[in-house]
Amino acid sequence: MAKAKNNTLKLNFDTKWGYSPAPESKSIAKIEAKYDLFINGKFEKPLSKKYFDTINPATEEKLSEVADANAADVDKAVKAARIAYNNVWGKMPAKERAKYIYRIARMIQERAREFAVIESLDGGKPIRESRDIDVPVAANHFFYYAGWADKLQYAFPNRNPKPLGVAGQIIPWNFPLLMAAWKIAPALATGNTVVLKPAETTPLTALKLAEIIQESELPAGVVNIITGAGATGAAIVNHSDINKIAFTGSTDVGKIIQRAVAGTNKKITLELGGKAANIIFDDAPIDQAVEGIINGIYFNQGHVCCAGSRLFVQESVFDEVIRKLKDRLETLIVGDPLDKNTDIGAINSKQQMETIHKYLKIGEKEGAEMYQSNCPLPKKGYFIRPTLFTNVAQSSRIVQEEIFGPVLTVQTFRTDDEVIEKANNTPFGLSAGVWTDKGSKIFNLTTKMRAGVVWANTYNKFDPTSPFGGYKESGFGREGGLHGLSAYLNVH
Ligand code: ADP
Repeated sequence: MAKAKNNTLKLNFDTKWGYSPAPESKSIAKIEAKYDLFINGKFEKPLSKKYFDTINPATEEKLSEVADANAADVDKAVKAARIAYNNVWGKMPAKERAKYIYRIARMIQERAREFAVIESLDGGKPIRESRDIDVPVAANHFFYYAGWADKLQYAFPNRNPKPLGVAGQIIPWNFPLLMAAWKIAPALATGNTVVLKPAETTPLTALKLAEIIQESELPAGVVNIITGAGATGAAIVNHSDINKIAFTGSTDVGKIIQRAVAGTNKKITLELGGKAANIIFDDAPIDQAVEGIINGIYFNQGHVCCAGSRLFVQESVFDEVIRKLKDRLETLIVGDPLDKNTDIGAINSKQQMETIHKYLKIGEKEGAEMYQSNCPLPKKGYFIRPTLFTNVAQSSRIVQEEIFGPVLTVQTFRTDDEVIEKANNTPFGLSAGVWTDKGSKIFNLTTKMRAGVVWANTYNKFDPTSPFGGYKESGFGREGGLHGLSAYLNVH
């Protein structure tokens, strides 16, 4: 260890004291040169005849090319889903449906390593995250909802729950496989059929999932997975034979979608942006809290809607928390997502990296004090040093707007009321964190915070049994748990 110029401890990455590389092998990842659209149980060439590249954001190398579905392709997928709903899936006894969902869950587990490697290659997230969180939690969602399939009468007693029909599902790039599982598993368990579109920068694990679905012998057309960018998503949203739209993504696109479905019969759930407050009281276990803050914003490159991007520290422990945060920042390893030592992988795309750089400049212009770790960055690929801003105002754009990168703003507070007011002063309301020794404070804050999820003395914990979703501009509707079932049912 050496002393960095700002008096914090610095890991000496270049010397013998640094970690040796521990890369996960790529050999397990079977990636085709080209992927077609998964429609009606088969991989079909796109009617658009167009393909686009998906690249590895850590190396900028092309991984594969995937089909760019147009409106005619979307129509073909929706027709397949409708026929499968009318003829097979809608009629199948629920306990039979459950068997397929269990089978998909088990197959994800069997191929977990391959999924994890492909997720890290295509999306840039550290293998530790994709291996320990994304893939197992995705499998858990299928297991959990498989269990509900034949118990809907118990979930909604005396209510006669009925499926909606065809669900159009559009997901973002931050948790490609996990978001697909969040969307597909409850839809299937409740008897709906699906047309799902992954994000254009991270299509590969959804296409792998399509391979599993094919191998599982799920009846053709029950799940259709089509690739493309915003225009493909819009074609799904505007298709007249879709009964439900489930969207996770940016607040801007969420608003477009909400306008597009207004006045139609489509049911809709939106899970949008966030700007979560993470609050440390002076009675909190500070070391654990600092680790929780680091986990909440920096692991995963800040690419989580629920990232704890606004830190509020009680004034009396401000100096201690900042010192410890900076020390910890210096030990974070930014680099190859496939290396098991890596804490912070690649930013998902060049465009996103530019957005983050734009916000770093805005922060400095607004007069905030920026601190970045001194870690070396790889020469190629899209990487950003973990960053924290102090001396920010409640009205600063970096405090108010979602950055979606490893960037934390830090503010102070004195009283509970003050921090509740500050934490709620945002257009978003997806999640929040509270660190304190006092149960009473936790209850006081959790009842007053306008956020869908509030973690206490932990952060970023996901479980299929617990509902997730937002307040205000973070969206509406819940995914996960019983709530996640009702989003795909008519309950009379
Ligand atoms: P992010 O900022 O997380 O990339 P986006 O909202 O841009 O969020 O993208 C999330 C998903 O929405 C992606 O699958 C994207 O292709 C899709 N999408 C983008 N624009 C539209 C649109 N106008 N209508 C429907 N889907 C869209």
